Amino acid sequence: MTTEELRKQLMLDAKNGYVGLTAQQREEMEGYCKRYSAFMDACKTEREATAWTMEVAEKNGFKALLPGMKLQPGDKVYRNNRDKSILLAVIGSESLNEGVNICAAHVDSPRMDLKPNPMYEDSGFAYFKTHYYGGIKKYQWTMTPMAIHGVVCRKDGTRVTVTLGERDDEPVFMVSDLLIHLSADQMKKTLAEGIVGEQLNVILGTEPLEGEGSDLVKLNVLRMLNEKYGIIEEDFLSAELTVVPAGKCREVGLDRSLLCAYGHDDRVCAYAQIESLLALGTPKHTAVCILADKEEIGSVGVTGMKSYAFDTFMQDLCDGTGAQLNRCYENSFCLSADVTNAFDPNFPEVSDKRNNSQLNYGVAICKYTGSRGKSGASDAAAEALSHVRQTLDKAGVKWQTATMGKVDQGGGGTVAAYMANRNIVTVDAGVPVIGMHAPLEIVAKLDCYMTMLACKAIYEA
Ligand code: MN
Ligand code: MN
Repeated sequence: MTTEELRKQLMLDAKNGYVGLTAQQREEMEGYCKRYSAFMDACKTEREATAWTMEVAEKNGFKALLPGMKLQPGDKVYRNNRDKSILLAVIGSESLNEGVNICAAHVDSPRMDLKPNPMYEDSGFAYFKTHYYGGIKKYQWTMTPMAIHGVVCRKDGTRVTVTLGERDDEPVFMVSDLLIHLSADQMKKTLAEGIVGEQLNVILGTEPLEGEGSDLVKLNVLRMLNEKYGIIEEDFLSAELTVVPAGKCREVGLDRSLLCAYGHDDRVCAYAQIESLLALGTPKHTAVCILADKEEIGSVGVTGMKSYAFDTFMQDLCDGTGAQLNRCYENSFCLSADVTNAFDPNFPEVSDKRNNSQLNYGVAICKYTGSRGKSGASDAAAEALSHVRQTLDKAGVKWQTATMGKVDQGGGGTVAAYMANRNIVTVDAGVPVIGMHAPLEIVAKLDCYMTMLACKAIYEA
């Protein structure tokens, strides 16, 4: 055997996903990314993603899963978890005792949430005070157009939905940063200290009402909010209003190979799961799709992945098909579909290049996440990765391996550990991202498409 033959036979040969991509695959990829972009334009919060998914699922024959409901192969059901998370299933031809195939993503993203008493006036400005949600580099969130999304539960218990700053004829909102001319002191600070949390105050207005007092700008804004939404200042206590980057998902680069948007983490994997689930026939194993909330703050709360809401949904599926939950869990597989860090040639020093994911190399499979010696990771077994590798290869899905930066550089977590804790074999995989948790993040179209195909292959396994 020649050296060349030996090399070909024995050595790992990672290829850019565009190598060998057929014209038909390219067309499918472009079509998929257009639909994904539209989803991103419509959904910037977990509530919006949940409502959007529920509507599309119902149009595709999914019915709300009610306790005591009997289920047959091919049945399509969903459960809306408090408007902030949604669980969907397509019942397979085999018993749930043989296990289910789960894809789990999250639909919450880093942002600036309003404080419970957010409104104030200072020196002729009316502001919202915020408390950031998830990990952000605070300086990135200044001097960029923002929109307000969320809900307010009014004193009488009625709920009003707010979306302000997305349409061309609506105003946007901004957090100020200091002009460079007077930044001599600020520029000496670290990036972490240059803008601090209590400076993430959102400008609401500057025009005072007529009259006396130091609250006339604030009062004018409150008046406008009351006219538009019927709310009073006290209602902010029972509100979930959040400040997110305004604007749409856009193509990036002359070759249009990339997409920038707010919240690719993790709606890029959420959408991959939804679209592949909707297209599913009757699978062998029941397919379960989870869009979880609260991943960015530790998967906590009733709508997070640690919540018993998932177990209740699975219990109802098992009851409906005469299966046992513990048997079901121990035979199940979960793809924890979440984004990972793409290698960035601008910052090569944070990665081990041989083990980092790259844009355009396909869905990135991650044996472990975590930090400082894999702490916080579920660290999938060799057998679990073998299952994923074989499943993706069989379906012709382009994949690559990934780790979250070089050893001891930092790290991160996903919902994987909470699924694995339930005795469900779980592997992390997802889309590589440039600039994760920045107001706008970048992904590659090819990786988005391959991640959708990966979810499809897992559901059909
Ligand atoms: Mn994520
Ligand atoms: Mn994240």
